[in-house]
Amino acid sequence: MILLNPGPVTMSHGVRAALAVEDVCHREPEFLGLVADVRRRLVAVYGDPDTEGVLLGGSGTAAVESMLSLARRDRPTVVVANGVYGERMAAMLASQGKPHVVVPHPWTSAVDLARVETAIAREKPAHVAVVHHETTTGRKNALAPLGALARAAGASLLVDAVSSFGCEEIRFAPWNVDAVAATANKCLHGAPGVSFVVARKDVLEGPCFPTTLYLDLGRLAAIQRRGDLAFTLPTHVTFALQQALVELTADGGVEGRRATYLARASVVRRALVDSGVSPLLGDDTGAAALAAYALPEGTTWSEVHDGLRADGFVAYAGQGPLATTTFRVAVMGSMGSGDLARLDASLRRVFARAGVRT
Ligand SMILES: *Cc1c(COP(=O)(O)O)cnc(C)c1O
Repeated sequence: MILLNPGPVTMSHGVRAALAVEDVCHREPEFLGLVADVRRRLVAVYGDPDTEGVLLGGSGTAAVESMLSLARRDRPTVVVANGVYGERMAAMLASQGKPHVVVPHPWTSAVDLARVETAIAREKPAHVAVVHHETTTGRKNALAPLGALARAAGASLLVDAVSSFGCEEIRFAPWNVDAVAATANKCLHGAPGVSFVVARKDVLEGPCFPTTLYLDLGRLAAIQRRGDLAFTLPTHVTFALQQALVELTADGGVEGRRATYLARASVVRRALVDSGVSPLLGDDTGAAALAAYALPEGTTWSEVHDGLRADGFVAYAGQGPLATTTFRVAVMGSMGSGDLARLDASLRRVFARAGVRT
């Protein structure tokens, strides 16, 4: 089965083999050495020497929640929301009992910079929280202009980069990004179970406002920096992440992966548009990892899902209010050119069948 959902992804043979390494104790030198290497490799993905990687056991949501331990109690966070994951960050801040103000958007809309600027001027936040690639719709939110707005008001960005880390450009200081949260099993092609935050070192050494012990980013960073671990990491999954990062480098790093995704996405898009299926977003935001499409009139998601699944592909439903009108195709993970040709044929077959019935 080839997974076209936005994580977990189809793993390469190399990553799968790394999951079967010998059992190790997480406090023995061979594992602590692996952790140090993975943390170095995470920084190397974007190559900013002033940043540091912090690993934790848990899905991408855990990493986002840990990143938000940087959000202050004495100053609000402005949350930019144009999909499920922006709204989830607001819910996290609510459950952390921290002051925050949401700048809501319709899920299909681009970020309205004027409204964000007004909110920043009014609230005087310490941070602006935003999702880089909003997986709800496949929209890439431009970080640079948001970072500039925040900088002008003395704030900085906290970014959910769960579905962009490894395939979209990210710049820390130039874009005023303090921290990004991401996971092993999306654009990095690792196994689910380990997630991470990459943050500026000065930020990690500064104040942190944790509301749980497990997700206290400052504490996790301090312990990992001295070569130790606070808690058990999923050991095998961490070996798989190391292998996935080696393979990312071999694939040409972020630029190489982005080019691979864009090539796959254009095959998907051509097959769908040729079949009369329209992209959900009217504007192309350049997002590489996933695109959402409108379900054609008279076609149900279960028909599409079952048709693709019969050909060996798992696509993904829309979310929330978009569940009955859209579907999504992610192009992450290990996929050969034969798989892509089969996908092209399968999409054309499934939507031709759907079209005949309407
Ligand atoms: C997948 C995703 C998450 C949540 O990740 P989990 O691993 O399911 O916890 C958060 N944000 C974005 C943008 C995502 O795509």
